[in-house]
Amino acid sequence: MKRRIAILGSTGSIGTQTLDVIRQHPDRFEVVLLSARRSVDLLIRQAVEFDAANVVICDEARYREVADALQSRDTKVWAGVDSLCELVAMSCVDIVVGAMVGFSGLRPTLAALRAGKIVALANKETLVAAGEVVTATARAHGGVLLPVDSEHSAIFQCLLAAGENPVEKVHLTASGGPFRTWEKQRIAGATAAQALRHPNWDMGAKVTIDSATMMNKGFEVIEARWLFDLAPEQIQVVVHPESVIHSMVEFADGAVIAQLGCPDMREPIGFALAFPERLTVGNKRLDFAALGSLSFEAPDTGRFPCLALAYEALRRGGNAPCALNAANEVAVAAYLKDLISFYDIAKIAERALAGMDFVANPSLEDIFETNREIAAIADGYLR
Ligand code: MG
Repeated sequence: MKRRIAILGSTGSIGTQTLDVIRQHPDRFEVVLLSARRSVDLLIRQAVEFDAANVVICDEARYREVADALQSRDTKVWAGVDSLCELVAMSCVDIVVGAMVGFSGLRPTLAALRAGKIVALANKETLVAAGEVVTATARAHGGVLLPVDSEHSAIFQCLLAAGENPVEKVHLTASGGPFRTWEKQRIAGATAAQALRHPNWDMGAKVTIDSATMMNKGFEVIEARWLFDLAPEQIQVVVHPESVIHSMVEFADGAVIAQLGCPDMREPIGFALAFPERLTVGNKRLDFAALGSLSFEAPDTGRFPCLALAYEALRRGGNAPCALNAANEVAVAAYLKDLISFYDIAKIAERALAGMDFVANPSLEDIFETNREIAAIADGYLR
């Protein structure tokens, strides 16, 4: 039986790499749904190549264009996020790959979990903004979250070797991003173009900027808290510039299990799609002798304050991580347009956290409300 895959955000970095894995294993997977926000041309090409049964263009204004192009085919074309939320629940979907960018992934992810689907989650903002609601929804409806983020896939793989033994802590590795060795003053003047040159990973623009500020690592700390039910103190970040160790788990006896590989997202994607089996995915293999050594250093929250802000939001709990994410989304979008400077991202996030209306046990409605409110407030800071 082929596994039937729905890809939310099929034209982005994770989406295209997911399709590359599927392309290598046509005997194992079938694409039943592709969706994109507005990359019409690529979405159409993907629909044709993979003979997708359903295609959703989230930007409703572009529906005609997609529908006309696919008119002669069996593919059904839909528009809008509401359609997406309905379609992920279809009985013909086995695995939903959550690869949308930012908060926009929350609704379709929840819809898939409510329908008891396996969600291979790359969209970490969903867990940052609403980790408690998302994990509770999965539990209540038999939905399953499988990590696609490389660090969390690594932890998941290490935990398979743990048996019943409790985790003492996890070590999340961080590349340190393009500004790891830069002085603070130089970082302050860094442009978006410079921040987009990530040394190891080929990723979308939003997550690449988040990597440069290390907000991405902070979000991954929050993501790990929810995926693996850990306390904030159990999650440590260590900078590891080679990105060869994808993360590690430490046990009561001091033993540490690590997962290693060349930095290539197709490896964690393939692991999530074929779990518990492993697939060939066309990635490079590690050459330890050529590698020579691996290095580690402590993260510097003086130069990368976003990491500390994420820990603070996680410790406060409630809707604080949601507020942090909302402010960050607005700030990163502005930074990508060269409207603000690098450290303005942290300043906007910090101001939003300080001024927010705290809710200790937010409902889903509270989460949407917080996201709306903080996005509007952060937008106001830009003016
Ligand atoms: Mg990651």
